[in-house]
Amino acid sequence: MLFRNLKLVSYVVFGRGSFNQLDKILEPQRKGEAPMIFLVDHFFKGKALPNRIPMRGKDKIIYADVTFEPKTTQVDALAKSLKEEFGTISGVIGIGGGSTMDLAKAVALMINNPGSSADYQGWDLVQQAGVYKAGIPTLSGTGAEVSRTTVLTGPVRKLGMNSDFTPFDQIILDPELIKDAPANQRFYTGMDCYIHCVESLEGTFLNEFSKSYGEKAMQLCQEVFLGNKEWTDLHDDKLMMASYAGGMSIAYSQVGVAHAVSYGLSYLLGTKHGVGNCIVMNHLEEYYPAGVEEFKRMVAENNIDIPVGICKGLSEDDFEKMINVSMGMKPLWENALGKDWEKIMTREKLRALYNKL
Ligand code: NAD
Ligand code: ZN
Repeated sequence: MLFRNLKLVSYVVFGRGSFNQLDKILEPQRKGEAPMIFLVDHFFKGKALPNRIPMRGKDKIIYADVTFEPKTTQVDALAKSLKEEFGTISGVIGIGGGSTMDLAKAVALMINNPGSSADYQGWDLVQQAGVYKAGIPTLSGTGAEVSRTTVLTGPVRKLGMNSDFTPFDQIILDPELIKDAPANQRFYTGMDCYIHCVESLEGTFLNEFSKSYGEKAMQLCQEVFLGNKEWTDLHDDKLMMASYAGGMSIAYSQVGVAHAVSYGLSYLLGTKHGVGNCIVMNHLEEYYPAGVEEFKRMVAENNIDIPVGICKGLSEDDFEKMINVSMGMKPLWENALGKDWEKIMTREKLRALYNKL
């Protein structure tokens, strides 16, 4: 048996106001005149946060349009324009939600790797280290800050660039930055973390490493989303650490049914990751009875609307496409249902599930 030799993020800062240390953190990473590129979620355009970015020399802020989740074409265009404009680059700093952090990771990799990012969608295809990269979350739940992947929609698939070169060199976990996230978005992204925990803890790949982090992350999600309390700073602190621990849990196990099905939705309909997982989780009693019951309580207590009927009126061809994308997520199904998953999750069964969404 070959045990996974897990590459982790190299440096982690946690704490309210830790964003103010960014200048100091970046200083030793600067290569002469080569600039730092700050990829900032477009939500922050015109807000106070960009004024706090420690710009030096030729440093540049680029606002990332994350209306849609990151595409390989977007990554390639960004990497190409940066290489053309500057030649060498010291690093790429992603400041935003999972989409912006994934974009930053992918662009940092593509500055040093030839071809298109689509060539590297898969497992361990990336051959060269990227430029220095740091991640600073402004939404918590995806675990993108700790993961060894960057989820991209390409010409033929939605799949990450999974590799040992993908994790950030540095992350800054400053709970002040997630403070103003709107309740719905915060919930959808937070539930991504909760669902990671259910899928990891109920999966066949579970081990004590994943369990230790998964149980802690789940407990934090319960403290944050159950019990109907006023939202406080402590909630943000806990949610930020839940995301980190949830990401660590799936790093050594895998996600499961909700993710495998929601990938199909997002490929065909562009449904966003957080809300897509919630739409699917709502109908997974058969696979995760206790998790789904608790999820529904969280939805109700936080007064959140989960969309229904999003597959109404789709053609047979559309269903086929979603089923193909979902069935392609083999490790997820194997984690959820075991080695014989194909006997359990047939195309007909998956078709019936999509029909309910
Ligand atoms: P997101 O990054 O897609 O952002 C969602 C929305 O929230 C955007 O409109 C954004 O502008 C806005 N936003 C961001 N920060 C905000 C703030 N502080 N206040 C108000 N609005 C804010 O959302 P997400 O749920 O964090 O990330 C989803 C993405 O993460 C998907 O692209 C998914 O594929 C990816 N993902 C990656 C991994 C990984 O391991 N790499 C894991 C899970 C999900
Ligand atoms: Zn997820």
